[in-house]
Amino acid sequence: MEKQGCRYRELVLVPCPFQGHINPMLQLGTILHSRGFSITVAHAQFNSPQTSNHPDFVFLPLPDGTSSKPVMPLDFLAFMSNLNLNCRAPFQDFLSQMIEKQDQHDQLPCIIYDGFMSFAQAVACHLKLPNIILQTGSVASVLTYFAYPRLQEEGYSTPQDSSSTELVPGLHPLRFKDLPATNFDNLDGIWQVIAILSNIGASSAIIWNTMDCLEQSLLAQYQQQFQVPNFSIGPMHKIASASSSSLLEEDSSCISWLNKQRHNSVIYISFGSIASVDAKELTEMAWGLANSEQPFLWVLRPDPDNGAEPTDRLPDDFKETVGERGCIVRWAPQQEVLAHSAVGGFWSHCGWNSTLESISEGVPMICRPAFGDQKINTRYISQVWRNGFELENDLERGVTERAIKRLMVEKDGDEMRQRAAELKEKTEVSIKKGGSSYNSLNELLEFIMSV
Ligand code: UDP
Repeated sequence: MEKQGCRYRELVLVPCPFQGHINPMLQLGTILHSRGFSITVAHAQFNSPQTSNHPDFVFLPLPDGTSSKPVMPLDFLAFMSNLNLNCRAPFQDFLSQMIEKQDQHDQLPCIIYDGFMSFAQAVACHLKLPNIILQTGSVASVLTYFAYPRLQEEGYSTPQDSSSTELVPGLHPLRFKDLPATNFDNLDGIWQVIAILSNIGASSAIIWNTMDCLEQSLLAQYQQQFQVPNFSIGPMHKIASASSSSLLEEDSSCISWLNKQRHNSVIYISFGSIASVDAKELTEMAWGLANSEQPFLWVLRPDPDNGAEPTDRLPDDFKETVGERGCIVRWAPQQEVLAHSAVGGFWSHCGWNSTLESISEGVPMICRPAFGDQKINTRYISQVWRNGFELENDLERGVTERAIKRLMVEKDGDEMRQRAAELKEKTEVSIKKGGSSYNSLNELLEFIMSV
């Protein structure tokens, strides 16, 4: 690896190979590179990042031994366990060689790894290297996992309670039906996630892609539980200069289409990189969009396994009905879309990146979470920050149309838009000089130089 002249310390970033994890890790790399650090990205071969978009980084593919795409979210833990097992030895060899090549005056490399890439921490500890976790989800979602042992002690036997709308003691505003256990048949999956996340205690620090104005009290709770330095420096995509880390090709034609639409008139629909909708839901979404008479930009990803186009499953006369009022793409430049003045609402699965991207641009949301932390984020959006509402239960005819109108044209939606605008302002304050994320980033830089 070529050494970059007067750069500070070498940082080795280890992203988890899914879009919602790769984006924040590469944003962090961009921020840290702009502050003088040299960046190596050690990544799985599966979902390998587009190296050409990041010419300043060195990329190191790790043989991960994975032979097929996991079925998400069901296979996630088994897939990660295999990947963690296979990447460990090549990562250790790489770091050992890197250290050998260093001058004796050089600082040892610092490893920054996704919370799910526990092999990176095991290797860093073995080689006595400083290591920092990047948590790519919200603080609320991580704290929720750590509440399980207490809940079990108190006699709450999730996931039996997984359809319950009762509030979870100590975790308001979450209901039992919002807990991550609803993704698993039993609690084994939860204990596995807790085991993975538990390496927090042994890490040198934690970086969060969040802001004090969203999660200050949760950060304080977290800090109490884990006595490790915490840095909340989000939303990182607003600090990092724009460079795409999309695994799919972005279709920028939708920006030309947006340029022709009225201010705040378009509803943008995207369920991120993994969540999918079944045939009935797709049909009801289509009719809701057609009947609402709002302009819309809809991301419909091809099926990752067989390449089938969801557009083939749309109702027969849908395209003729909506005409130029609708724009459908396979993958959008989402940050640019949400920042566009024509976009007035976001119908989202509420992954944490999408949530932050919407908040940063002051776009109110219809929340339709599928699994994992999406349900937790949804509760914070609808009950705490109140910049959106949840669309629950099966989608029956008329329901989607009413939801779109509620967000885009009704008073209720206006109020959410107002709160979204306030959150956008708070975001801007956080990342400006003297703001909480700005200060936390400076503290992180000092910390990295000191460990
Ligand atoms: N994204 C994008 N184009 C799209 C859909 C999504 O660039 O058409 C990006 C989006 O901006 C976000 C990421 O993909 O940064 C999805 O992450 P998120 O945490 O929202 O959801 P996940 O894909 O992990 O479920």
